[in-house]
Amino acid sequence: MTSDSNRIQSIRGFADILPSATPVWRQVETTLQATLAAYGYDEIRLPALEHTELFARSIGEVTDIVEKEMYSFEDRNGDSLSLRPEGTAGCVRAGIQHGLLHSKEQRLWYAGPMFRHERPQKGRYRQFHQIGAEVFGLQGPDIDAEMILMTGRMLRALGLGDVRLEINSLGSAEARRAYREELVSHFRAHWEALDADAQRRLETNPMRVLDSKNPQLQAVIESAPSLMDRLDEASRAHFEGLTRILDAAGQPYTVNPRLVRGLDYYGRTVFEWVSDALGAQGTVCAGGRYDRLVEQIGGNDTPAIGFATGIERLVSLVTERFGVPEVAGPDAYLVVGDEAAMGVAHRLSERVRDQSPGARIRVHSGGGSFKSQFKRADRCGARYAVVLGESERASGQYTVKDLRGDEPQRSLDENELIEFLSAGQH
Ligand code: ATP
Ligand code: MG
Repeated sequence: MTSDSNRIQSIRGFADILPSATPVWRQVETTLQATLAAYGYDEIRLPALEHTELFARSIGEVTDIVEKEMYSFEDRNGDSLSLRPEGTAGCVRAGIQHGLLHSKEQRLWYAGPMFRHERPQKGRYRQFHQIGAEVFGLQGPDIDAEMILMTGRMLRALGLGDVRLEINSLGSAEARRAYREELVSHFRAHWEALDADAQRRLETNPMRVLDSKNPQLQAVIESAPSLMDRLDEASRAHFEGLTRILDAAGQPYTVNPRLVRGLDYYGRTVFEWVSDALGAQGTVCAGGRYDRLVEQIGGNDTPAIGFATGIERLVSLVTERFGVPEVAGPDAYLVVGDEAAMGVAHRLSERVRDQSPGARIRVHSGGGSFKSQFKRADRCGARYAVVLGESERASGQYTVKDLRGDEPQRSLDENELIEFLSAGQH
């Protein structure tokens, strides 16, 4: 037996994000967060675990997420809890619980891991990360348009300006009810053409059949009646208001009448940003209006709209397009001769950090010859090596070697050395 069989591995669909990848993650996250701040959104931090009932009541009992994908369990008190599969439900719950939604508007954003027991594949994980936002208290199409423009700006800021925008309207609950019946008769007439999944969805959640990715179903989906042609008057006016603002702002879009979302709470505006570079997992950002949800989970009647982006998919697009930035080594590596030199090295490096918090200094640890220490300095990518040996300590003059370029060797006293290292990136 090798020790391999003994080794504990991560859970399938739960990825480690290694140091080689974290710089791109950080770049994507800070870019999105800076854009949200620029539009006046405030951050809210929410728990990863909620009562299962919150998701059943908001996302919907007969959705894939609630039926098959949630990580639900009974805790030690016998309460049914679930790891959050998305952020909106928790955000609405917190908004109601803390009275954030009482007759005022709120623009909130959140970030963090979400959990769904799906089939892992490229762009699809069981733990994945979203940054999302919710706006409460505004009912007009103007905020829908602004949110779409903001998400477009996020993608451009990441260098992904070619991601496509698709929009649709899901109308009112009444219009959807009537439409659902028409849809069911259409698909029943083509029962043989449906796959098992679509046949099942037809019973539980027929609009989700439109969302099937199975190419064999595309013809029967294409010929299905369109909700867009059956919108109620108010939803039609709302949608036209939205397209007018997008047109005026010069934002291209495609109206996709088959764009439905996998969560029950949406009505009226829905939108997705889709990349052609990610295969079947092409949606990098998705959102929509959910005017009924706040009331449905116990709050006052409050209009709302939100979106969420999938960070893994954005990171993958950014990495494919721009590569992985090289992880920069420290500015300086302090090579230490003996224990007394170690004391000097730490005194020096602490003074540099006091003076210049951005300076990146690594003090050698673990003993060894000068030769082996220089090897480590080189391997960690340090720009300079500073030698603190016995003779340097005696003379008070320290040697600085350029490890990356061809600057001549320097000999500096303690104050000069601190100045030099505090100057940061050389
Ligand atoms: P999809 O159609 O790709 O399953 P969805 O409609 O289930 O997406 P949402 O619930 O709207 O997705 O989540 C918003 C975004 O979160 C998606 O557009 C996607 O970028 C990302 N996302 C959703 N599920 C996953 C997952 N399992 N792994 C990675 N990213 C995901
Ligand atoms: Mg999904």
